[in-house]
Amino acid sequence: MQQQPILIQGAMPVEVAALREALEGREDQTLHGFSFSTGTVEGHPLVVSETQIGTLNAALSTAVGIGAYAPRAVINQGLAGAHVGELAVGDLVVGTATVALHGMQSPARAAGEGCAPFDWVFDPRSVPIPSDEALLRHFTQVPWPHGRAVAGVLGSGDLFSREIDRIRWMQEKKGELCEEMESVGSYECCRRFGVPCIGVRVISNNELTGEPFTDLVAGDLQRWLLGQIACL
Ligand code: SAH
Repeated sequence: MQQQPILIQGAMPVEVAALREALEGREDQTLHGFSFSTGTVEGHPLVVSETQIGTLNAALSTAVGIGAYAPRAVINQGLAGAHVGELAVGDLVVGTATVALHGMQSPARAAGEGCAPFDWVFDPRSVPIPSDEALLRHFTQVPWPHGRAVAGVLGSGDLFSREIDRIRWMQEKKGELCEEMESVGSYECCRRFGVPCIGVRVISNNELTGEPFTDLVAGDLQRWLLGQIACL
């Protein structure tokens, strides 16, 4: 029987370009407005999925991808902004879990919890979703040659935060190491479909230290993942 594929996701074209190019026998398909490329890497079947930006797109394209290709695992990967001062552009974050950074509500409706200076609290439903344990074990033992590598919580929301006081406030509440806009959609979808999932991100910007956004590191992460397809 044909081996079930791994489905690897990236939000923007630059976050999937190297993966797409590596596919042997590549075929491109658009399903419900989402682009997927299928093929093999070293004989192993792979589906490369461009989710487009945002948690809603990530959840939708994950559902479409699972329905169409029945992957044995989903890897959500790409760029992320650091939410701690110790991480620099080019560092790797292997997600132990992801947590929604959106889903806030006014404290007047949320029974009390104070959160000065912001007139908001997180919705109590914003709880971390854990990564698949076997995938986490795998990715935390592969050396990352481009900088530091850490394992920790990914923060995921439909925002690109640039306000330092708000970043610090979210980090204190949720403990995320970085912020991106997709993984929580993919994790939630995979949880419901019973498909193993993990998020892996490379730091592209750090508002706390003033490092500006660059997408040049996106290829390093894709090539690192391609080197591991045979072991997944
Ligand atoms: N300016 C470009 C880049 C957008 S960056 C554009 O508008 O096209 C947003 C993408 O990179 C998202 O897919 C998100 O997952 C990731 N990302 C990188 N740094 C981020 C940050 N600090 N906050 C949120 N998402 C970030």
